[in-house]
Amino acid sequence: MAEVKFENIVKEFEDANKGKVLAVNDANFVVHDKEFLVFVGPSGCGKTTSLRMVAGLERQTSGDIYIGDRLVNKVHPKDRDIAMVFQDYALYPHMTIRENLAFGLKNLKTPKAEIEKKITEAASILSIENLLDRKPRELSGGQKQRIAVGRAIVRNPSVFLFDEPLSNLDAKLRVQMRVELSELHKRLGATIIYVTHDQVEAMTLGQRIVVMNAGKIQQIATPEELYENPNNMFVAGFIGSPPMNFAKARLEGNQLHTATHTFTVPKGKLVGYKKYDGKEVIMGIRPEDILSTQLMPSVPTENVIKANLKVVEHLGAELLIYFDIGNDQLTGRVSADAKYKPLTQVDLYFNLKKMQLFDPE
Ligand code: ADP
Ligand code: MG
Repeated sequence: MAEVKFENIVKEFEDANKGKVLAVNDANFVVHDKEFLVFVGPSGCGKTTSLRMVAGLERQTSGDIYIGDRLVNKVHPKDRDIAMVFQDYALYPHMTIRENLAFGLKNLKTPKAEIEKKITEAASILSIENLLDRKPRELSGGQKQRIAVGRAIVRNPSVFLFDEPLSNLDAKLRVQMRVELSELHKRLGATIIYVTHDQVEAMTLGQRIVVMNAGKIQQIATPEELYENPNNMFVAGFIGSPPMNFAKARLEGNQLHTATHTFTVPKGKLVGYKKYDGKEVIMGIRPEDILSTQLMPSVPTENVIKANLKVVEHLGAELLIYFDIGNDQLTGRVSADAKYKPLTQVDLYFNLKKMQLFDPE
């Protein structure tokens, strides 16, 4: 098994219409041996390009890529000891599943008996023994996805690369496969780089997450760290569901003035925010840190606002509530026990211990 390292990786494409496209802009990171690292970011931010450069399917414009101790800039894809699982599974339609699994190994001139052994092992790990003699068209999306993973497993690579492998599956199957992939990672003890645009998938699968936007790495951190201490508004607004709320404000000492309300910032929370004193800032507060005072044992004396609820959405155990502070639209996520109704006024407590401040854009 192996670590993967990007040093000052830049990738520029020459696009017929758009001219030069900077797909990856000076990326630096290390994926540790046996780590499950997730790349996450909106469509077009450079995730697939990054993965394809690890695989050697795309050559970087500048910078160095290492797999293990080996500088692989000039190493052919088939000699990089990696296996990639694609979003569309890329199975050969005319071959049986067994032949699909054997294909890569045959190319590597693996002895027949060993190929059989590896297929039997992978089939057992993935519970696909009963599918081996079928053709891809006879399988469901979830089953095809398993075969695509199986094809990677039989190669026993140092590094697994996954490009949005679950995005063609329905929601329920996606959750199930997510759990299976986590278990598979533990079982194989492999280094995995996994790309997705889905922040929930990233947060649940990744031991560490690389957040990308417009070709630039925004933050590399554990899920907890991304949630608690986002580097900037992009990360704060990308992680969490629904994402963090933002409101224009001005900080004066420990008072945070928005267009319509004044909040008191707890002392400990001001550490690191001195630079904003007397300045315009953006207050970030997560929907789950806005609470219904009805459900609190005692109503706090500060940081409670009256909010006019525009819309209330039922999620079952929780409600999503929508209201405005000045021109900023906010979302709260409160327990359904609050029994809130739209077009009513309610008291909401803002847990400022959990707020973040950001530079205005
Ligand atoms: P993601 O996987 O995050 O959606 P990609 O890595 O596929 O993003 O693409 C990053 C950027 O590079 C996009 O602007 C995309 O249009 C551009 N791009 C990707 N591949 C090519 C290519 N072969 N030619 C020109 N532009 C490309
Ligand atoms: Mg992509």
